[in-house]
Amino acid sequence: MAKGGSRFGAGRPGRHGKAEHCRSIDVRRFQREDMLKPGSWSWVWRDSETGEVVSSIGIIGAATHMILAYAIDGESMRAHIDITRTPCNMGGARAWFRCPRCRGRVAKLYLRGGRFACRGCQRLAYASQSEDLLGRLWRQQAKIEAKLAPNWQRPKHMHQRTYERLKRRLWELEAEREDAFALAASKLGWLL
Ligand SMILES: [Zn+2]
Repeated sequence: MAKGGSRFGAGRPGRHGKAEHCRSIDVRRFQREDMLKPGSWSWVWRDSETGEVVSSIGIIGAATHMILAYAIDGESMRAHIDITRTPCNMGGARAWFRCPRCRGRVAKLYLRGGRFACRGCQRLAYASQSEDLLGRLWRQQAKIEAKLAPNWQRPKHMHQRTYERLKRRLWELEAEREDAFALAASKLGWLL
């Protein structure tokens, strides 16, 4: 694999076991634990294998919403999550989160990139992020290819050394693009 490839490979998440993948909140769980009312709680995420606490959030609850307080890279963040209820046919009410992004009614919200949002919104955010990266790599490649003759051939007046350097960069870009694609696919795979 070319040099550029290892950059993404090193951080590529596995499908299971990575702490990042566990950071979701489930309104049904909160309802069972009687947390959808005024009060304050903390919520922890544990590593599924070791049971170790990997992250925690503070929750200030109310009947109609909750405030989540958490830290991302040492920066404190806050999220206001509205809670809505629909009647059950067995009586009582079922609670839902409203996704802060699309306002949709959902049971689970996922913490990604420092923000809580529903699965669909997180998928869109990640898809566009990888699109940005892939687009950038394609544009870099097109720029270099424009300097070369067709099929990556050396133009008559280009120094051999310059030509070798550009060709190496093209190979690196190809490897980076492959990795960026694999990374995006694995992220989308988890969210699908
Ligand atoms: Zn959403």
